[in-house]
Amino acid sequence: MASSTLVWLRNDLRIADNPALAAALKHDAPVHAVYVLETDRGLRPLGGAAKVWLHESLKGLNGDLAERGVRLSYREGDSATLIPELVRETGAERVYWNRRYDPAGRAHDAALKSALKSDGIEAESFNAALLVEPWDIATKQGTPYGVFTPFWNALRDKPIAEPIGRIEKHEAISPPALDFGEAPFWAEGILAHWTAGESRAKNMLADFLDDLLADYPKDRDVPRKDATSRMSPHLRFGEIGPRQIWHAVRHLIDANPAMASAGGKFLSEVAWREFSYHLLYHRDDIARHSMQERFDTIDWRKDTRALHAWQKGQTGIPVVDAGMRQLWRTGWMHNRVRMLTASLLTKNLLIDWRKGEQWFWDTLVDADPANNPASWQWVAGSGADAAPYFRIFNPVTQGEKFDPGGAYVRKWVPELKDMPDKWVHKPWEADAGTLDKAGLKLGETYPEPIVDLKASRARALDTLKR
Ligand SMILES: Cc1cc2nc3c(=O)[nH]c(=O)nc-3n(C[C@H](O)[C@H](O)[C@H](O)COP(=O)(O)OP(=O)(O)OC[C@H]3O[C@@H](n4cnc5c(N)ncnc54)[C@H](O)[C@@H]3O)c2cc1C
Repeated sequence: MASSTLVWLRNDLRIADNPALAAALKHDAPVHAVYVLETDRGLRPLGGAAKVWLHESLKGLNGDLAERGVRLSYREGDSATLIPELVRETGAERVYWNRRYDPAGRAHDAALKSALKSDGIEAESFNAALLVEPWDIATKQGTPYGVFTPFWNALRDKPIAEPIGRIEKHEAISPPALDFGEAPFWAEGILAHWTAGESRAKNMLADFLDDLLADYPKDRDVPRKDATSRMSPHLRFGEIGPRQIWHAVRHLIDANPAMASAGGKFLSEVAWREFSYHLLYHRDDIARHSMQERFDTIDWRKDTRALHAWQKGQTGIPVVDAGMRQLWRTGWMHNRVRMLTASLLTKNLLIDWRKGEQWFWDTLVDADPANNPASWQWVAGSGADAAPYFRIFNPVTQGEKFDPGGAYVRKWVPELKDMPDKWVHKPWEADAGTLDKAGLKLGETYPEPIVDLKASRARALDTLKR
């Protein structure tokens, strides 16, 4: 068999600016690509919603790869054995992939790389996922960053590589059939709300930059408005890369300097993702260990009933329920509401942040190995650059501030649709007549609040202080 190249696709499901794929296509030799749904021990299995996304994304990519002469295959199992097997099957002399940054994944890839090399196979990895890789950015003392603002100040001055321009093409083939097995039972809502894939990601970014960026700083915290980019699942699976976003925004600002402030704000949010990856790389398994060790001595409450009520959006706290239902139905939740739901769980309910992180991991289409645990730890207060433990969000005042009038709550919690604005974020304070008129029976048509916000806040402060 003619020598060929194997591209191992992971979180880089795109053609453009994909350095491993571009390098493979430069050789005048067949290119095979594979996605492995990894079951290797120690690697975190993908959650259900992410799997739905993955399958949709691979379906589109399959066609795009075939147009360029690349044959995609899909496997489930241990990549440590499947990759060498595929190397033999395809007669590959080279294996290329784009890097990941979690400690377990890195150790796994390093071992595979040396095994391939000792078999005489060329194995090379590239950066597709980050503006700046964790080892290329450090404090003046040469240590990793632990606080976002100085990290961002350093990042914004770094030269960011331009996306790869031209990608070679080989003669087109017809796309092979892929068999993914069964989708999770709640896939339907996700599929109704999203379209996966590289071309969708590119169009969504263009629309966002044209229509929404100017108001992004003002509106990004308002959950009822569709004011953010919704790039997160596309970025999660690498259907678009951060270099492409960075340079698209820079070019826009060059052409229209009035967009500098809004563009800068948006890029600073993209930089939070970079910061999460910086932490993922430098810290010890951030999905399992609190970055501040003392948080792992907290006596978290074991309250399955409350955890289930939270998961199902039945806490009786409107903005929290709205968020948890948006998550379940669509695989996504607005950032402000992610903070409020996480705060209720970890502070008011004093339930271990890992329980919430795992639920998000399973239900978010953008469930990200860096962003999810880092953000959970930020809210819990156990993170590197965490909100101080005494900052506990009040979901009522936050709801009134960011969802005045309650349009977001009414959308996801229709039981409350006829509540007057004044009470929509705190129906338990309304009098019997008001509840009656709105058709609401607390404890029957909509739950009583699962915790007393004031007392549970005091309990959290006391526990965390200790
Ligand atoms: C408890 C909790 C869990 C979270 N879990 C995830 C997760 O699993 N995956 C994920 O991508 N984001 C996560 N976030 C961060 C944030 O909520 C989402 O990135 C954002 O809501 C995605 O919507 P968007 O793409 O429209 O964001 P935009 O506001 O348009 O931002 C653009 C991009 O910047 C990045 N970004 C924005 N805000 C943040 C942030 N606070 N932290 C890190 N990156 C950010 C994302 O990649 C996002 O797509 C979490 C936040 C919280 C509070």
